[in-house]
Amino acid sequence: MHRSRIVVPVSHCLLNPNSKVLGSDVSWSEIMPLTNYLMSIGAGLYQLPCPEQTYLGCNRWGQSKEQYDNPYYRDHCRIILKQVLNDLNEYSHNSYIIPCLLGIKGSPSCGIDHTFSAPWAGEMLNAEAGQNPGSILPGSGVFMEEISDMLSSLDLDIPLVEVDEKDIEGTINKLKCIIAG
Ligand code: SF4
Repeated sequence: MHRSRIVVPVSHCLLNPNSKVLGSDVSWSEIMPLTNYLMSIGAGLYQLPCPEQTYLGCNRWGQSKEQYDNPYYRDHCRIILKQVLNDLNEYSHNSYIIPCLLGIKGSPSCGIDHTFSAPWAGEMLNAEAGQNPGSILPGSGVFMEEISDMLSSLDLDIPLVEVDEKDIEGTINKLKCIIAG
């Protein structure tokens, strides 16, 4: 197959759902139409590191953006993004096309237009005791905020696009418009 020179950076769990918080599984059959579409246009799928897996490991709890929004986690994101930004910069300066970067709707780290918000702290959530269960709100996750800042600092204009895992067909249609446009 002829080289397309298209590179699409994607959130880690789109290619490896094992990185997700235990209990928040998404089946391969739901995601595959999206990866199949990208591969059908010859795109190279560049897997971003999972910031939560590399920070808290496999047995982490599901957390909110407020809990991840601290200088230690932001430093972690920047450290694991350094190589990524070097790679994207290098592709960009050698006539490769990076039409978009894919994040995950509702993630406290990888959300782009929607993120998970809850004022949690202390002992584990106890809904029966009246603790706020949290909600999906407009806004970006911490990792995507750091990516966005780092892309801007390098003058790399790469649209960040959110994958809605509950509406893969809608996501594919959105990507078709961006890539055709
Ligand atoms: S942090 Fe990002 S890559 Fe990791 S599981 Fe969550 S959405 Fe996927």
